[in-house]
Amino acid sequence: MEKKNIDWENLGFGYIETEKRYVSNFKDGAWDEGMLTAEANVVMSECACVLQYAQTIFEGMKAYTTEKGQIVIFRPDLNAKRMADSAKRLEMPVFPEERFVDAVVKVVEANKAYVPPYGSGATLYLRPFMFGSNAVIGVKPADEYQFRVFATPVGPYFKGGVKPLTICVSDFDRAAPHGTGNIKAGLNYAMSLHAIVTAHKNGYDENMYLDAATRTKVEETGGANFLFVTKDGKVVTPKSDSILPSITRRSLMAVAKDYLGLEVEEREVYFDEIKDFAECGLCGTAAVISPVGKIVDHGKEICLPSGMNQMGEITKKLYDTLTGIQMGRIEAPDGWIKVVEA
Ligand SMILES: *Cc1c(COP(=O)(O)O)cnc(C)c1O
Repeated sequence: MEKKNIDWENLGFGYIETEKRYVSNFKDGAWDEGMLTAEANVVMSECACVLQYAQTIFEGMKAYTTEKGQIVIFRPDLNAKRMADSAKRLEMPVFPEERFVDAVVKVVEANKAYVPPYGSGATLYLRPFMFGSNAVIGVKPADEYQFRVFATPVGPYFKGGVKPLTICVSDFDRAAPHGTGNIKAGLNYAMSLHAIVTAHKNGYDENMYLDAATRTKVEETGGANFLFVTKDGKVVTPKSDSILPSITRRSLMAVAKDYLGLEVEEREVYFDEIKDFAECGLCGTAAVISPVGKIVDHGKEICLPSGMNQMGEITKKLYDTLTGIQMGRIEAPDGWIKVVEA
């Protein structure tokens, strides 16, 4: 198969329309059989529930080429499960989990020419999403929904080398206790836009959100979970009902324990403890782990001992091991790698 003529190494993170996407519609209480289509535009009522009341959820994952030349997807079953959880919270019908995985595989197969080659650092980003599509003016869930999956190639995250991030403690809250912080819904991102634009204006790469109730505990950033490493080499991640359960973070915790033999802890992390940590990283599909070099709390700087030039030692080991597993250089735990094409 002929690959597209794309400068993979220099691709950014922007939408590039690919050939095929998957669409299934929910109507009269049931999902239709679904299909691949070339139509990239969505036409719906001006009064669609998604447009008026933001009834929409999404997922994000990647397909890539391994060292042996296989096209694979990393743990799509967990994305399927998480999307089912998101759907229930927003009173949307669940798109069956096996069908979700099947749809994602079909989209990768149909856009194989856009799966970047091994070693380029680029990947094919997959975006499943679902929204309430019929007209709703009184506030209630829609009766009709559309589930879609599109693919778009994205460039290497650490172009020009790793640069640890400087982040700030946000004055805004991301998620309320008992709110929607633990689901992947567009609404959590709409309300984070002002906070991230403000952080960027002030010269920071990202926001650190604290728990909304007490503002004493670390939650996450707008789109990534935190991992910390203690000075004695323990890997710690915040536990909270209002954090989005990152698949990358859960995988990294398993790697820390089972591959690197490190002690791991998921527990409440107080902001006051951060000054004592040795390393800090942000985990998500986009970067796997981005190291954090500095955390600024209203002018007060906390500089991580790992510094502003490289990943911390354990962060680097975690990064190398998980990306090794993903790229087929290190044996994966059972069920982590979904092979699209052998
Ligand atoms: C998607 C997302 C993450 C990262 O999750 P992954 O499954 O690792 O990509 C973290 N936080 C938020 C708020 C997210 O939406």
